[in-house]
Amino acid sequence: MDDTAPGPWATEHRLTIRAQTATRPGPLDEATGARWAEHRKTGLLLVACNCGFTTGWVPGAEVPALAELTEQHGGT
Ligand SMILES: [Zn+2]
Repeated sequence: MDDTAPGPWATEHRLTIRAQTATRPGPLDEATGARWAEHRKTGLLLVACNCGFTTGWVPGAEVPALAELTEQHGGT
């Protein structure tokens, strides 16, 4: 047995969270003819893990606590 060989690859648990934003062309600035883009948060959040687990886009108030998420998908 080769004890110096690398071990197996694994997709370890690493949670990340993203906030969804919406963008629209703002009102016309008649002096310059420009429309600045306006951005705002939609209130939807998505939690994803490097292992493949994801909550999908859900309202922020419905995102489970970190401890609960970890328990739900087998993380440590
Ligand atoms: Zn995970």
